Amino acid sequence: MAKRMPGNRPDLDREAAISEGGLAEPGALDEIGERAALTCPSYHGALWRLRDDQPLRYRCHTGHAFSSLSLEDANAQNADDAIWGAIRAVHERIILARERLAWARRAGRHADAEREQLTNVENEKLVELLRPAARIPSE
Ligand SMILES: [Zn+2]
Repeated sequence: MAKRMPGNRPDLDREAAISEGGLAEPGALDEIGERAALTCPSYHGALWRLRDDQPLRYRCHTGHAFSSLSLEDANAQNADDAIWGAIRAVHERIILARERLAWARRAGRHADAEREQLTNVENEKLVELLRPAARIPSE
């Protein structure tokens, strides 16, 4: 591996100064990187891809720093959390629709009961679509 010569990589010195300070002005990050079409997985603000890209890495202005690997891990975790969140939300709809169905039958409201049954069929299909993405075995 090539030895780093002092003064060879001025962006690294600027980046080190930003690391010590934590927060960085967007203008300071513009000097050492380019705004990426990505958001910080922790805070969801803008991310900068650093110009000195050996290795490829990213920073946000609140002080989070990522290698491409740690950014990928964080994004994968966020995607998994979103899929689980979607499954939980659809399960809530199924539970509520079952309660509304039972109520509609007790109250003799046949049209409402039919609608709740249809809602449940749709939501159960949706859970079946989401299951493989969340790596949950089918029931
Ligand atoms: Zn951040």
